[in-house]
Amino acid sequence: MTAGPLPEGISEVLFTREQIAQRIGELAKSIDDDYADQDLLLVGVLKGAVMVMADLSRAMVSDPPVDWMAVSSYGTGTRSSGVVRILKDLDCDITGRHVLVVEDIVDSGLTLSWLLRNLGSRGAASVEVCTMFRKPGGARVQVPVKYVGFDLPPAFVVGYGLDHAERYRSLPFVGVLADKG
Ligand code: 5GP
Repeated sequence: MTAGPLPEGISEVLFTREQIAQRIGELAKSIDDDYADQDLLLVGVLKGAVMVMADLSRAMVSDPPVDWMAVSSYGTGTRSSGVVRILKDLDCDITGRHVLVVEDIVDSGLTLSWLLRNLGSRGAASVEVCTMFRKPGGARVQVPVKYVGFDLPPAFVVGYGLDHAERYRSLPFVGVLADKG
């Protein structure tokens, strides 16, 4: 469990460091099994997926290569619009490769659905998604997510890579941000 008082602004811990670590191990095993002997590339979406990617890739025994994209989703406040701009593209060619997009959180799914269309148009053998957190109530578009760490309640959460104005990313647990809940 999390020792001591909660950091300022956090009202509740949803998933502890231990719960996250255990779930990461389970996801890593499933992905290793599903992609055995395949040319798998993990694609992380900066910056939120940094923690998930670091833990997931190290928990996998297949030692998959990792690449990164940074995108910016135009929107107002915490709502995304689905209009996306690539800030940093992949370094490698994904033609004929099995791509697994590693995400921190899927909310409306708008950013992700754009990303899947974009990656799909580059000739990958397959494009699937692993997200650590999902808000089912918020889904505005149907995005096929193959691996989900945890489903969330409809609250604004921070920690384990998820920020609010660049704060809280390095918390080892995921909690609810009090004034956004
Ligand atoms: P969407 O799926 O709505 O297109 O956008 C997902 C993005 O919205 C995430 O990458 C994240 O930056 C942000 N987001 C959505 N819900 C939350 C949340 O509860 N907490 C935090 N920190 N970011 C969120």
